[in-house]
Amino acid sequence: MADPIRQPNTSTPAAFMQRALDLAAEAEKSGRGNAYGAVIVQEDKIIGQGTNAIYAQNDPTAHGEVEAIKDACRRTGSNDLSGAVIYTSGGSPCPMCATACYWANLDRIFYAHRADEITDGGAPGYGKC
Ligand SMILES: [Zn+2]
Repeated sequence: MADPIRQPNTSTPAAFMQRALDLAAEAEKSGRGNAYGAVIVQEDKIIGQGTNAIYAQNDPTAHGEVEAIKDACRRTGSNDLSGAVIYTSGGSPCPMCATACYWANLDRIFYAHRADEITDGGAPGYGKC
């Protein structure tokens, strides 16, 4: 069973983005992967989280967004994350991750290098590869 998710003290976009940025820093520091992290948020709660884990898992598809989606799906027992959004560190998600967000039915993608400068990437699309 997955560890409980520690929720931020406030349910603000900046707080959720800060958590994604903190996960990114953890990924790099631990050597699990590159400095990327993401959280899935639904009804002001983080329901899934992930970091880049390409080295730990020897898996080139283990990007932060994909790992967060998998975590949220495991925790909710559903492959449908309708009504949820993703906050992810860094720039615009790569085509693989954007498409994964589409298949997970996420409502919106938010990304940022800093918690106070969040970009609304809009609804995920298919076929941007
Ligand atoms: Zn990606």
